[in-house]
Amino acid sequence: MRSHYCGAINESHIDQEVTLYGWVHRRRDHGGVIFLDLRDREGMAQVVVDPDTEEAFAKAESVRSEFVIAIKGRIRRRPEGTINKDMPTGAVEVLGKELTILNASATPPFQLDGYVDVGEDTRLKNRFLDLRRPEMLNKLRFRSKVTSYIRNFLDGQDFMDVETPILTRATPEGARDYLVPSRTQPGNFFALPQSPQLFKQMLMVSGVDRYYQIAKCFRDEDLRADRQPEFTQVDIECSFVDENTLMNIMEQMVREMFHDLLNVEFSSFPRIPYSEAMAKYGSDKPDLRIPLEFTDVADLVAPVDFKVFAGPAKDPKGRVVALRVPGGAGISRKQIDDYTKFVGIYGAKGLAWIKVNELEKGAEGLQSPIVKFLGDDVAMQIMSRLGAQNGDIVFFGADKAKIVNEAIGALRVKLGEDLDMFTCKWAPCWVVDFPMFEETSDGGLTAIHHPFTSPACTPEELKASPESALSQAYDMVLNGTELGGGSIRIHDGEMQKTVFGILGIDDAEAQEKFGFLLDALKYGCPPHGGLAFGLDRLVMLMTDSQSIREVIAFPKNQSATCMLTQAPGEVDSKQLRELNINIRKSAKEES
Ligand code: ASP
Repeated sequence: MRSHYCGAINESHIDQEVTLYGWVHRRRDHGGVIFLDLRDREGMAQVVVDPDTEEAFAKAESVRSEFVIAIKGRIRRRPEGTINKDMPTGAVEVLGKELTILNASATPPFQLDGYVDVGEDTRLKNRFLDLRRPEMLNKLRFRSKVTSYIRNFLDGQDFMDVETPILTRATPEGARDYLVPSRTQPGNFFALPQSPQLFKQMLMVSGVDRYYQIAKCFRDEDLRADRQPEFTQVDIECSFVDENTLMNIMEQMVREMFHDLLNVEFSSFPRIPYSEAMAKYGSDKPDLRIPLEFTDVADLVAPVDFKVFAGPAKDPKGRVVALRVPGGAGISRKQIDDYTKFVGIYGAKGLAWIKVNELEKGAEGLQSPIVKFLGDDVAMQIMSRLGAQNGDIVFFGADKAKIVNEAIGALRVKLGEDLDMFTCKWAPCWVVDFPMFEETSDGGLTAIHHPFTSPACTPEELKASPESALSQAYDMVLNGTELGGGSIRIHDGEMQKTVFGILGIDDAEAQEKFGFLLDALKYGCPPHGGLAFGLDRLVMLMTDSQSIREVIAFPKNQSATCMLTQAPGEVDSKQLRELNINIRKSAKEES
């Protein structure tokens, strides 16, 4: 059997006889001597086969990339001048004596000994090969380290790992459900869990006290960048705790994990109220590495004749902000045009700007298409509120608040990237004091987290002004990405019914959909709260990957298709009949 992993041999093994197994990463014929780079999970070993070991040599001549072979040989020091300091095994090589071909390989559809951009679908279609690449294997390995770190930490804090069902009823987390038809109950469906939320709450009712699970969750969302229909959460719930205690435990876990796995030190995470995050960054997941902030100027522009600004300034749902970019006056017209297109993606109708050239000349020293509409005084008042300096550029957003927040929030991040303004590599924070609800496009209210989140007020206060009520929810944010979020939950049936009522779920519907939860709340439900981390995003950030697909072994592509298995696929008519399902002809044609 194997004596060592290829990647594990080093100078301490010199003169030892070894047996290695692996894949031929590269084969080089050096006039009479054959070099094979043999690869396995742990790395690469250089194998040399001389013509005087005739049999081994003949086989070495016949092997090709990705053949699986076994090598028996002796470890020796590489000759002076051929030592490879960049390779952990680079000081030694194996003088191969016996070579066994365990399996041949067809020519891979893409090179594995170097990155070639073959397109993601080809990589996903051949994921079993793509994962052979050391870069990808390292990501899987790192992910495994993260999950065992989290398990160890939570086990050490007396959390209990409990599994919850995959075939269940809908748990609303704001997405569509994946449904599974029931064969035994025609016309009825299971839903795959959007999260284990209600089960973990019921585990608290049962007295589990501290629960965690590395749980698969399923959300049928519109195809937004970097979402997966199934993803993994580190799901956590805890009884008899308040927000502070919970946030402290979670912060400790993340801080220690970054220290131990990445050697990164975090100091204590700032806690930013939601209202402040929206005011300064237009986002509830601010990227605090970027030192740019919004400044509201609606009061200054409301009186001007310039409708583009005055309209939103006077609209209760509008917002007018300025974003001062120190030293940004060098941005070209072409770049400004590109940024204008960029904010257009978020619904902004334009992008107004002012370049601050010579402030000492007053409005004369400002270069901009809009100063003439604002008037010199207002323009200068804005400059003084912003603390503008020569060499700055100021961008403006004026529209419905939602559009301004999204468009200028995204521009803030883009400018940070383009102008390389990052002040640090990692910027974690908590966002707290979220509102309970937000308005839907049809004027109703929807829960910002989920309907089981506890408000920070009494049921009476909640009923009196649901729009302004705050919740006991918190999100952990890292570099502009939401790592996790949770809340203290409602543990009182009356409060739960009040929240359902505000969301337009009447008693009958509440009973039909969540009767089991309302029942559980009747029997001595302890105060409790929890949160869930997005494991894929966490690993993506920790491995500096571009997308969560890079840290999931077998992800779906951006059309929610598994390129490897071609799921979702058709099923035969017998199966459909058993499930009492009839596919509309037009549905097939439409797709
Ligand atoms: N269930 C929530 C979610 O999936 C997390 C939580 O509130 O614990 O977002």
